[in-house]
Amino acid sequence: MRANDGETADLPCLPSPLQDLRDERLERRGVRLQLKRDDLISPELPGNKWRKLRYNLHAARNQGFTTLPTFGGAYSNHIRATAAAGRRWDFDTVGVIRGEEHKPLNDSLAYAADCGMTLTYLDRTTYRRKTEPDVLAALTRQFGPCYVLPEGGSNGPAVRGTAELVDEITTNFDVICCATGTGGTLAGIASGLTGPQRAVGFAVLKGAQFLEDDVRRLQLEAYGTTTTNWTVNLDFHFGGYAKRNAVLDDFIADFGERHGITLDWIYEAKMMYGLFARTEAGDFPPGTRIVAVLS
Ligand SMILES: *Cc1c(COP(=O)(O)O)cnc(C)c1O
Repeated sequence: MRANDGETADLPCLPSPLQDLRDERLERRGVRLQLKRDDLISPELPGNKWRKLRYNLHAARNQGFTTLPTFGGAYSNHIRATAAAGRRWDFDTVGVIRGEEHKPLNDSLAYAADCGMTLTYLDRTTYRRKTEPDVLAALTRQFGPCYVLPEGGSNGPAVRGTAELVDEITTNFDVICCATGTGGTLAGIASGLTGPQRAVGFAVLKGAQFLEDDVRRLQLEAYGTTTTNWTVNLDFHFGGYAKRNAVLDDFIADFGERHGITLDWIYEAKMMYGLFARTEAGDFPPGTRIVAVLS
């Protein structure tokens, strides 16, 4: 018997906390920063990944699907989160991983496999075509009827889930910053804003100009309409997805010493580095109140 026949259970720890971050480098510029600690929602299902999965799990359950395949790179947080959600709410999950299998599995994939996720691999050329009908049909042939989650979990239901993050913030703010991979989080946050508030994404991939289109497409999919209250900064990818260098590592170490928070180097650190750099460059006028999302 399936563990939860009724509602797809919700995680208990929403809303996530909002914390002041006092840092002289920002105070000097008259900028106030608060952290939306989505990273504290759950160790297994961090922040935005959970928000993006939530309505997809409801939809899959309601439509009678028990198998959830999804796509990602070998270090994808989304793959991990989908695996964890599958274990928790009793879905069969399939991780379709870009590139070749490497043994032993890295920590991310080992964790996913431990959660019961079936791992399968697509060469890079086929992976690029992962949304095309023949590739999806092959999945159905292999795993049966399934509810396919796109790469990064970003689709209409995901955008509606992340928009809720904004409603949880009860203080006034002017700008909200997030790290941007596939753009679902940025699309949702921007959709959730009101008045003159704006959202700034920091792309963690190199050459992420496609985000301009993707964020719009995701907003359309979720709400049938787009917003213009967001921008994506493309300058802080540090060489590309899951790439790092000594500058980023030093920033993470220094930030950890000052604030006792270890920023994740794939996403959070690149956003935070960018936020500090743009503040230093005078992008945010004195008095600007910023919320930065940690997931
Ligand atoms: C996945 C992830 C993001 C990016 O989310 P997208 O919706 O793909 O842009 C940002 N931060 C963290 C910590 C993540 O795990």
